[in-house]
Amino acid sequence: MRSAASLSSLAKLASLVLLAWATPASAEAVSPRPQPMLKWVPADVPPAAAPSSRIIFVHKCPITGCLIHPGPNDSRTDTSNIPTQQVSISRFKQSDVVWSKMMDCVRATYAPFDITITDVDPGPNVPHYENIVGGSSGSELDPEFAQAGGVSPFTCAEIPNSISFTFDVYGPDPDQLCWTVAQETAHSFGLEHEYNANDPMTYLGGGPPAKRFQATESPCGTFSSVTCTCTQKATQSSYKSIVAMFGPGAATPPTITIKSPTAGKQVQPRFVVRVNAMDDVAVDRVELYIDDLDTGVRATTPPYLLVAPEGVTDGAHTIEARAIDVQGVPASATVDVDMGPPCTASSGCSGDDVCVMGTCLPGPDVPGGLGDSCTANTECLGAQCLGDASGNKQCVESCELGAAGVCPSDFNCIAAGNGGVCWYSGAAGCCSAGTDPTGPLLLGTSVFGLVLLRRRRRP
Ligand SMILES: [Zn+2]
Repeated sequence: MRSAASLSSLAKLASLVLLAWATPASAEAVSPRPQPMLKWVPADVPPAAAPSSRIIFVHKCPITGCLIHPGPNDSRTDTSNIPTQQVSISRFKQSDVVWSKMMDCVRATYAPFDITITDVDPGPNVPHYENIVGGSSGSELDPEFAQAGGVSPFTCAEIPNSISFTFDVYGPDPDQLCWTVAQETAHSFGLEHEYNANDPMTYLGGGPPAKRFQATESPCGTFSSVTCTCTQKATQSSYKSIVAMFGPGAATPPTITIKSPTAGKQVQPRFVVRVNAMDDVAVDRVELYIDDLDTGVRATTPPYLLVAPEGVTDGAHTIEARAIDVQGVPASATVDVDMGPPCTASSGCSGDDVCVMGTCLPGPDVPGGLGDSCTANTECLGAQCLGDASGNKQCVESCELGAAGVCPSDFNCIAAGNGGVCWYSGAAGCCSAGTDPTGPLLLGTSVFGLVLLRRRRRP
């Protein structure tokens, strides 16, 4: 594949784009959708310090078509430097329902930014970006774009009053249309292709149909992961780039729920709060409060697990988990719990819970609980899946090596990495000293045999 290392000048970016376009076979191998394009053009106007407008006009071509004049790029006068002669883009043929859903999607995609999305023409006196939607083929604009799903002029910087295009080649598919509108308009802000299937700047298939500008750093690239051509940096964050230009939009808080403990549950010292948190862009962190006091406990990556600090007194407490998104907008969920004494290996926990280090945690009969078989950390409620030398893997929880009663019956605290983990050893027990195996769960053969016989707990 083409490598960005050989692309030393911006002019070569244009050849990259045209090469990509000229090899539809490789494009189809990655993703069969008609792809948005960009076209290198000299900047008509030097980019301004502040954006020239906060309006994106999504122009639904009417039955009379959209007339485009050749010339210096200017949405206010329907002039574009992409066609070489006057052209008319034919009407958008999909239903009003498709249009409305597409507009909802474009608004949601740009909601994190101080940008207004409209399908009403702001007129010749108001600076605006414009995306023209219509045309049965890109060849209506220029034969060069016969295979394209859309096209935008591109200069690695904001193009004031830019006109970009989304062709009516996806059928009644609001998400595909929205993806292209988002990509083309953002090309006009100087963003390049991103190698991240969640982001509208991508060419990759396989991601969610509704794409959002991602706050994470992603490699650039169209058909392979490459260094970003405009910035010569390894990565681009479309969200950060656009928010830096336009500032944040109306806040959309994250959604958050506390999965456990459940309301009224008796908890033990160092109990674990499991949180589901999501956001339209990204969750920055989840914070743990107890009785309105910030514990300082934070989780920054899912699954969000927050371990309550020492010192929570016996009795009733209100637990609050607070998710904060990358725009700083919080959302919270609370649950009332009852702090009890520490559990012991044999008593103090109810239901399918088992006692680890004095705290009740989901046991082997709960999917992802301690001792359940697993193949990856994400399958375990405690986010730890470890295996022995033969590849037998189970969900584990940390324990203190050499201490008594730190793991439930049928489990032993064995060495793993720098500490210990509770490892299911069967009713027969094993590891008399509790610390026999050494190294990263390289179990001795006696233990190993018992592990092999362990029944698979998950239904
Ligand atoms: Zn593109």
